[in-house]
Amino acid sequence: DQNKFQAIISHCKEYGFIFQSSEIYDGLSAVYDYGQYGAQLKKNIRDYWWKSMTQMHENIVGIDAAIFMHPTTWKASGHVDNFSDPMIDNKDSNKRYRVDHLIEGFAETLEADAAAALIAQMEELLKENDFAGLKKLIEDNKIKCAVSGTVNWTDVRQFNLMFSTQLGSVSEEASEIYLRPETAQGIFVNFLNVQKTGRMKIPFGIAQVGKAFRNEIVARQFVFRMREFEQMEMQFFIRPGTQKEWYAYWKEERMKWHKSLGLNPANLQYHDHVKLAHYADAAVDIEYNFPIGFKEVEGIHSRTDFDLSQHQQYSGKKLQYFDPEINQNYIPYVVETSIGLDRCCLMILSEAYEEQDLSTAEKQDSRVVLKFPAKLAPIKLAVLPLTKKDGLPEIARELMAECKQHFYCYYEEKDSIGKRYRRQDAIGTPFCVTIDHQTKEDGTVTIRHRDSMAQERVPMAQVKEIVMKKIME
Ligand code: ATP
Repeated sequence: DQNKFQAIISHCKEYGFIFQSSEIYDGLSAVYDYGQYGAQLKKNIRDYWWKSMTQMHENIVGIDAAIFMHPTTWKASGHVDNFSDPMIDNKDSNKRYRVDHLIEGFAETLEADAAAALIAQMEELLKENDFAGLKKLIEDNKIKCAVSGTVNWTDVRQFNLMFSTQLGSVSEEASEIYLRPETAQGIFVNFLNVQKTGRMKIPFGIAQVGKAFRNEIVARQFVFRMREFEQMEMQFFIRPGTQKEWYAYWKEERMKWHKSLGLNPANLQYHDHVKLAHYADAAVDIEYNFPIGFKEVEGIHSRTDFDLSQHQQYSGKKLQYFDPEINQNYIPYVVETSIGLDRCCLMILSEAYEEQDLSTAEKQDSRVVLKFPAKLAPIKLAVLPLTKKDGLPEIARELMAECKQHFYCYYEEKDSIGKRYRRQDAIGTPFCVTIDHQTKEDGTVTIRHRDSMAQERVPMAQVKEIVMKKIME
């Protein structure tokens, strides 16, 4: 539903969640900035992931590796030679397309059976790296294509997605280095450092959150596909031969995590990979039903010993583990979980966004509400004195002072209470508290629940606990 997608994009901009990068200069394509509420939402998701991965798993530790890495890293990982997508250019319009996206676009215009057949054909050709076949498939299907008319295509070519830059000054001998296209390699090259200093015993994991960069061709998908984005990755090191069990374990464990975000299970599904990456012996995506359809949010990959073997070979350093239980040295196998933080934000926003018609016989009314789980909401509590006088702001300030030590609060005394409620609904604040004249008499306040809009009278002294309880759910 493109309309809902556009509505979410507009809402994110209007309410300070996500802005186009460098907007005053007309923007930078596929790059976005998080505003005051977006940054907080993103941080809450990041913290929740970090806690569930590290704090909740005694055998997983977190690191923070640099974005810049020795250039040989990317030779060893295969990114210099393999991290590319087949592309085709339309010579007339000078537009470049990722072959798979172009064909998926054709498929969307077809009946279900025909679409499935086309995708299957494409996947077969991609697996074989049959570029001539892919070009023919595009030409045979171009009639239904958005790029109508006679299209003058180039041949299909590989296009590397890594950004490069120079390390060192120009006069010195500068060397070309890459902005990391994934965070995983920072974990692999630190495998021994962490294993030794943390006295880690296999099986164990290393988690990391950080920026990654890819020169993506298809833009215009908001934060779903960005050129600068954030990944949350975990590499789980295991004994060779146990990868099937651990792959099954993480596949299930990660799906549970998504459900713990309060997502409707019907909006989540697995998608097994047909074409495996050069490093993987099994791979599955967890897909979410975005307004633009079911799409990947997270990948779980059984990476074998590919990465550590490669780094051992290229660095000449032994990257092995002595397993005291079986009295053997080996290069561990790896099962990886890799999730995009920005896509995760978009998932949470898509699930939360709701336009509600609240009209009654007497008057027309509506609201946009973001039904975030309380633990992820940027603001947890809005504190609203009914008027700016009669000592009400002072009481409200007392509540603020108490609560803001524990969670994010928002103080507002302008406009009618109704308007203030609507503004909090639009940024997903789960609770609003109104301080009125009765508060002065009996110490009670009105607490209003975002989703049901129900209001109840409670002692002001209980507000903190009510909010804390909901956040911990
Ligand atoms: P896609 O097929 O959509 O390009 P991918 O399979 O290349 O994704 P991975 O390399 O497995 O993605 O990266 C792991 C996760 O990182 C993805 O599941 C996604 O959530 C996130 N991610 C990858 N590329 C981008 C991007 N350009 N913008 C935002 N998030 C991304």
